[in-house]
Amino acid sequence: VTIPLTELEKLQVLGHGNGGTVYKVQHKRTSQIYALKVVHGHGDLTAHRQVSREKEILRRTDSAHIVRCYGTYDNPSGDVSILMEYMDAGTLDTLLRNHGTFSEPELAHITRQILKGLSYLHAHKIIHRDLKPSNLLVNKKMEVKIADFGVSKIMCRTLDACNSYVGTCAYMSPERFDPDAYGGNYNGYLGDIWSLGLTLMELYMGHFPFLPPGQRPDWATLMCAICFGDPPALPSGVSDEFRSFINCCLQKESKKRWTASQLLDHPFLLRHPTSNR
Ligand code: ADP
Ligand code: MG
Repeated sequence: VTIPLTELEKLQVLGHGNGGTVYKVQHKRTSQIYALKVVHGHGDLTAHRQVSREKEILRRTDSAHIVRCYGTYDNPSGDVSILMEYMDAGTLDTLLRNHGTFSEPELAHITRQILKGLSYLHAHKIIHRDLKPSNLLVNKKMEVKIADFGVSKIMCRTLDACNSYVGTCAYMSPERFDPDAYGGNYNGYLGDIWSLGLTLMELYMGHFPFLPPGQRPDWATLMCAICFGDPPALPSGVSDEFRSFINCCLQKESKKRWTASQLLDHPFLLRHPTSNR
């Protein structure tokens, strides 16, 4: 049974985004803490469409590596809310900014969990399309879960239209900008693998790999770099396995990228095994 909204007390704002706000809330009767994403009905149509899609996806997913949804609410004024598990260590983006960059063993632990989430999504015909550090939630147990399905796509029979401009441009794969040159609609799922490669590089280096530290993105330059430049390179000193893993993600031609399930058996992850999973 879903907890009635009236039994939830807002404690603080966790994040703001596309037309919505995420609150830390407490269920008064049980003291249990949750996260509640609220998008107002009178807000813009895009925000409303996005939260409706997210609601649909979170209701049908059931994985240890996708943020859990405990209920969704539509109120008469058009507000849509999603009750989720509260991730008490924030996002990989805030962890990076507050605690600094991640080591290879830490990244292997993070990567394995993201890949399990992605292979679950892809097996269920869902493309995330906005994978990046601020959409990856973490708790104190260092469990990593994929969140924010506002621009995700549920694939039907065809692989059409997976090249539309949604998501954060910076993490978008070359074929999303220029489908003809980079393998196009061959396999829309592989766009998530490109974003994973950039995300891991950023967590290792401490800044978005296509830009020097501290530089604000200029979208036209960035798009040119993604489409016409070489994929970004890791600095010297990383292991061969990590370099190879990133190389398997950051192939400009989508066909050459490894899938999530292939990457789960990559030597980088085999080199850093985890005992508990
Ligand atoms: P948006 O579409 O606004 O980016 P997100 O789902 O990414 O929506 O949420 C925005 C921010 O709120 C996240 O970056 C994160 O900081 C915080 N947040 C979202 N969901 C949770 C959660 N379940 N637990 C803790 N923090 C969350
Ligand atoms: Mg987000």
